Amino acid sequence: MSDKFDGWGFEHRDLFLSAGPCSAESEEQLLSVARALEGHGVGFLRAGIWKPRTRPGAFEGVGLRGLAWLDRVRSETGMKVGTEVAEPAHVEACLEFGMDVLWVGARTTTNPFSVQSIADVLKGVDIPVFVKNPMSEDIGLWVGALERLSNAGLKRLGAIHRGASSPLEMRYRNAPAWRMPVEFMRLMPYVPILCDPSHISGKAEFVPLIAQESMDLLFDGLMVEVHPDPLHALSDAAQQLTPVGFIQMVEGLRKPKEQGGGVEYAQRMSVLRNTVDEVDAQLLELLEKRMGVVREMALAKEKENISTLQPHRWQEVLLDRISRGESLGLSGNFVLGLMQLVHEEAIRQQEAERCC
Ligand code: PEP
Ligand code: MN
Repeated sequence: MSDKFDGWGFEHRDLFLSAGPCSAESEEQLLSVARALEGHGVGFLRAGIWKPRTRPGAFEGVGLRGLAWLDRVRSETGMKVGTEVAEPAHVEACLEFGMDVLWVGARTTTNPFSVQSIADVLKGVDIPVFVKNPMSEDIGLWVGALERLSNAGLKRLGAIHRGASSPLEMRYRNAPAWRMPVEFMRLMPYVPILCDPSHISGKAEFVPLIAQESMDLLFDGLMVEVHPDPLHALSDAAQQLTPVGFIQMVEGLRKPKEQGGGVEYAQRMSVLRNTVDEVDAQLLELLEKRMGVVREMALAKEKENISTLQPHRWQEVLLDRISRGESLGLSGNFVLGLMQLVHEEAIRQQEAERCC
């Protein structure tokens, strides 16, 4: 297990694992998953008992009685247990039942008032709390939520990356948006971070793929939805693994290290990195050259009182660049995102040129 978990009181493994159903549905369901997972290195059994559903009418969780079930699972199996909290009353109930771990869900991280009210009731309590990233790709809210909890005196704080909603994402339920956790690791290098491949994937078949990607990005562990009978799950049925599927996945994961490799590897990497450095330098020079042309265009437009934004031209440019990119093997989404960034900067520079 990553040394970021030192002092957390969890058994030392090379990977921190949380697994369990999306929702607690019955005591039998929880006991069945817990027994199937026992002895497989699961740090804590997860199960949601208050489910924040996007629209009313869906299964909203079993509520308080789920805490008694989790308590029973813990005393029967010795496994640690945890659940999602979204408001002070949830936290108080969890503390009363002695839950081992809490986590703040994506919808709650989005709201600083909610996070602060949770932090307020946790003041002076020593319990591990994980915070999922917000629904949208807003790293400030994620970091801010952890800061609020840290300011309340909590020491055992972790993060969970569950992807972000994106209208451009076609394959997965939530876009993996890896740049966000990568940036999180840079900003909060001492905070352990788990990947939740279940909510990113939305489909059980993609879960191992996303889990492996997260290992390659040096995540410290995983939170995975595991249900004894996924097809009949009351929430998130499509994305839950069976206990056997989960155990097989974990056994099959490669866990790469950040450093190491032989002399030959070091030499080869040095050559390749030099090439990357040169290509990046060329890219930046080309981008500046493009901006220079754009600034000249701004002056010409200013003289004739023509708008900075040229929607028809922008549409043509975008379609052309996406198709050129695709013929070179670059993904359409990547080129779209890149061109949007370039265009945004081009507009900013044109406006700066025009106004002064
Ligand atoms: C969950 O873990 O079941 C859940 C609701 O996830 P998220 O907050 O990431 O949507
Ligand atoms: Mn879920």
